[in-house]
Parts: sequence; C-alpha cells; structure tokens
Amino acid sequence: MSKTIQAIRGMNDILPAQTPYWRWLEDHFRDLMRGYGYHEIRLPIVEMTELFKRSIGEVTDIVEKEMYTFLDRNNDSLTLRPEGTAGCVRAAIENGLLYNQTQKLWYAGAMFRHERPQKGRYRQFHQLGVEVFGLHGPDADIELILLTARLWRRLGLAGDVRLEINTLGAGEARAAYRQELVAYLAANEQRLDEDSQRRMHSNPLRVLDSKNPDIQDVINAAPKLMDWIDAESKQHFTQLCDQLQRNKVPYTVNPRLVRGLDYYNQTVFEWVTDKLGAQGTVCAGGRYDGLVAQLGGSDVPAVGFALGMERVVAMLEGKPVTDVAALNHGYLIMVGEQAEQQGIMLAEMLRDALPWLTLQSNLGGGGFKNQMKRADKSGAKLAFIIGDDECQQDAVSIKFLREDQAQQKISRSELVNWLQENFK
Ligand code: ATP
Ligand code: MG
Repeated sequence: MSKTIQAIRGMNDILPAQTPYWRWLEDHFRDLMRGYGYHEIRLPIVEMTELFKRSIGEVTDIVEKEMYTFLDRNNDSLTLRPEGTAGCVRAAIENGLLYNQTQKLWYAGAMFRHERPQKGRYRQFHQLGVEVFGLHGPDADIELILLTARLWRRLGLAGDVRLEINTLGAGEARAAYRQELVAYLAANEQRLDEDSQRRMHSNPLRVLDSKNPDIQDVINAAPKLMDWIDAESKQHFTQLCDQLQRNKVPYTVNPRLVRGLDYYNQTVFEWVTDKLGAQGTVCAGGRYDGLVAQLGGSDVPAVGFALGMERVVAMLEGKPVTDVAALNHGYLIMVGEQAEQQGIMLAEMLRDALPWLTLQSNLGGGGFKNQMKRADKSGAKLAFIIGDDECQQDAVSIKFLREDQAQQKISRSELVNWLQENFK
C-alpha cells in the first residue's frame, strides 16, 4: 500500500457535516448585502508581494512572519493573500472604480497566513469582507456596524457577541500621540518584552495591542490615545457613539483596541465573543482613509471590515440551521431494469415540474430491502417505489418513512399534483 498524502497543516477540509453551517452564513450574508445595496467583487488569491508590504505595513505580524511568499517562474515575488482589503483597493484603483463615485463592495474567500495552527486560527481561513469607498462621515461606519449587528440577529448569534469600538484619531494629533507613546515606552523599555521593544519605534501603537500578561502593567499606565485625539476625529467618534445608542446597539469603548494593521485611522471596531476561548474576535474593521492614496490612487476615504468565517461557523455549530439539502423530501426506489429506466425519466419529469423538490434517485441498483435501508438512511420523508407492479400500472407507491401513515399507490400522472398538495 502506498503512503497516504495528507492536507497541509492548518489547511482544513470542510466536510459535508459542516457545509450547512457555512452555507447558512454565506446565504444570510449575501442576502444582507443585497438588502443594503452592496455589490460583490471577486479578486485574485495571489497578488504581488509588494502590495501587502505597502498596505499592511512592514512591521506587522502578517508581513513580518505570516505571509506565504514565493518566487514564480518569472522570478516575481508573489504572495497568497493574507487579507482582502489590499487586493480590493488595488482592484478598485486599477479598474477606475473610485473615480468620482462611492463604492460599496463585498467579497468572500480564502486567506492565507503562516500562523501556529490552533482552535480558531488556521493557515488557510475564510473571510467575508466589506469595503466602502468615497465617504468621509461616520454614517458609513455606522452602517457597517448596523449591518453586522443585523447579521448576528439573523444568524441567531446576537446573544453571543458584543461590540468594542475605539478611535485612533488622525493627522497631526495622532503623530503627536505617537511621539508621546514612544517616549513613554522608551522610558519603560526594560519592562517590555522583546517583541514590544522592537515595535516600540516602528509600530508603537501595536505595543498597546500586546496580549503578553507580563507587560499589561506598562500598557495600562501608558498615555491614552483618547486624550490626544484631534477635534474632528472626536466629533466623528461622538456621532458614531450617538447613532449606536439611538439604534440600540450596545457597545463598549475599548481604548486599547488598535488593530494589527498599519492602515487604520479614526474608527476601529471588533465584534468579540466569549464562546470561543482565546480566538474571540469574529469580525474586525475600521476606517482607512489613507490607504487608497498610499497605493497610488487619489485621496479617497474608506472604511471596511472582515469577518472570520471559521469562528462564526464555530459559534453556529449545534444550532438549528435550515439547509435546503437537508429537507430531503424523497428517495426513489427502483427495483428491476424496467423500473430503473422508467424511474430515471420520472425523476427528471418531477424535477422539471417541481423545482423545489429534493429527490434522490437510488444509484447502484440493489434489491428492495437494500434500497429501503438507503432511503431510510438518507433522511428522506418519502420513499417513491417503482417495482414490476408499478411498471405495469404506470403508478408509483409512496411510503412514509417518518410518519405512521399507510402506504399509497398513485398513478404517475397524479404524482405532481399529489406532491404539490402534500409536500410543498
Ligand atoms: P488576531 O489578533 O486574532 O490575529 P487579526 O487582527 O490578525 O486577528 P484580522 O486581520 O483583522 O485579524 O482579520 C479579521 C478576522 O479574520 C479576525 O477577526 C478573525 O476572525 C479572522 N482571522 C484572522 N486570522 C485568522 C486565522 N489565522 N484563522 C482563522 N481566522 C482568522
Ligand atoms: Mg493575526
């Protein structure tokens, strides 16, 4: 026997038992996006490495140590996308989508990060992402939060998540805060860990985000970004908070919420849960007004978020989700060669007439008993049976698999009507 080949560590198969939860999430999300007037964009999985370096920032977890980067046959440095925003911005600029217009876009797909695999943290994972371009005001930020809140309600997860928000400010005020923070961190350098000592100069805000328990004291005593915020950002944030209150979306302001990527400014938010252990952030986003210009476009403000599908699916597991395939109305049993020939045609006719019907035809032959067992196992509510008698009589026998009801035999010409009346 030859050795079996296994999947790559951290890259998971999503098995049929799990796909109903994925579809439930995807279907609701798509429907929600349609309802709010957002348009789907589909983007390549591979981009030039430079794109991520320039957008995400050199001194971030992602660019420093998580990217799947390789040289292709032309010796170009390419990277499997670790997130969707950079590619979306690139595509929007390249295709002229940002010229004098707002864009409300969404995408779904696989992302790749070379992290240490653990529950809720994988090397291939999936995000649903939304990006809004061309709007300065807090109304766009608010809409994104309201629509994610609605998504949780529709998914039945509203009680499992809570919202944290913060503002990072902008412009000179933010630069001044940065200086102050660096000075503070430098004065406390001995008490920082190695990562934070390194980041202190290159990406000091990120030090605030550290989860290392040993340095929490230093972080807690650090100057507060909120005390340095510029007037405009403050107003933006106040409006955001007011609107959330008006719309009855509970939130907490988390002054340490800074997000891992360089490109954020002003509003940042995260939806977090206590249900998943350490990997509790299920959706994260914020405003990134400078990124489009930084990537060569014009000065177009932007705000967006990404939702980690694995984590949301983990919250959904065990909850009732209705999946079309799971309805499984019927299983067609065909005993004998003639029955099989007629049965295949009958099944196709039923699918033409009743597009909502789920009907599995028995495949692989077998005797009546055997086929009945398969029908039962399939979860179908009804078995349609065609044997010699039914062939002679142009009929079908109907057996109720989940209910105590007598078997019936009906003429095939009546079958569509019968199903419509009894099973729609
Ligand atoms: P973390 O602090 O958990 O590493 P992050 O800041 O790197 O998160 P983002 O880049 O903001 O995460 O990604 C948005 C969302 O995508 C996260 O909130 C999370 O739900 C999901 N996500 C990120 N990385 C992974 C991963 N390796 N595996 C599974 N989901 C992930
Ligand atoms: Mg990360």
